[in-house]
Amino acid sequence: MTGSAGNSVNRCTHCNEPAIIRLTDPERRLCAKHFTEDAEERVFNHIDTEIMIHPGSGIAAGLSGGKDSTALLVILKKYIAENPGAEIVAVTIDEGIDGYREETLKAATKLCKNLGVKHHIISFTELFEKSLDEIVAGQKDRACSICGVLRRRALNEAATRVNATAIATGHNLDDEAQSVLMNTLRGDLAHLVQDTSNGYPKIFIPRIKPLSVLTEKEITVYLLANDLFTDLPECPYAVSALRSEVRSMIADLEYSYPGTKKNLIKFRSGVRGVNNLQVDNDPGFCRICGERTGGDICRVCSLLEPDLD
Ligand code: SF4
Repeated sequence: MTGSAGNSVNRCTHCNEPAIIRLTDPERRLCAKHFTEDAEERVFNHIDTEIMIHPGSGIAAGLSGGKDSTALLVILKKYIAENPGAEIVAVTIDEGIDGYREETLKAATKLCKNLGVKHHIISFTELFEKSLDEIVAGQKDRACSICGVLRRRALNEAATRVNATAIATGHNLDDEAQSVLMNTLRGDLAHLVQDTSNGYPKIFIPRIKPLSVLTEKEITVYLLANDLFTDLPECPYAVSALRSEVRSMIADLEYSYPGTKKNLIKFRSGVRGVNNLQVDNDPGFCRICGERTGGDICRVCSLLEPDLD
């Protein structure tokens, strides 16, 4: 964000109001109103060119109650108001994380009420008979990887219940760039090229990321500019060492070499283009729970019942 207004450098490029953010490519300084329009226009263009929400689409928007998902729901609601015919339902996963999820659930419920959006909540306890706290007791260092697998299943289940044709998540440009670098550092080509946006047609519900054109900072500024920012607790398990190292590495590189984040995403698109690692055959069904899986037992069942492997 820029410093205080008062000199012309800190005025909006489009009007004389104080600028709240400086953006590059193209270079511009924007006031709250013009930044809001700029950010929304970029997301709308991304949806129009890459994502395609049509009349008849049913979008399940993942809503944790945190920053990214709040911005996602607000902007999607505006997009659908301008492009009527699609429907949006917010879905929240209650993992069962003591001292964290209660507050974010309250924020999510309040936001849906204010926006007039239907809200569906699904819990780990309902789906897996245990909360995340219970599942990861004694293996807290693995909480995020276990949670990630279970959340994906829960989100799919919630989206199926609300008859969604697509699942929208709040991943931003930083998240996407970090994932590219993390998968590269791990040598994980399969995850690097994996594209969940087409849902491996007619098998999985496609996943869309409308906010992937906005940086984390832009999302925070968008919420602040629109009086939507709520300071909520962080998940107590959010301590992935690799992700936080990668985050600061990319931030340094972006500072020295502007465009690094976008180049990482471009690199992934290029690799996807030349790689044919997408699954060629229909995945089968897990012999325990009957869900789609590439193996004999799905990852959810392997995690919940490791003795079955
Ligand atoms: Fe789950 Fe980790 Fe996210 Fe917490 S930080 S909600 S444990 S993935």
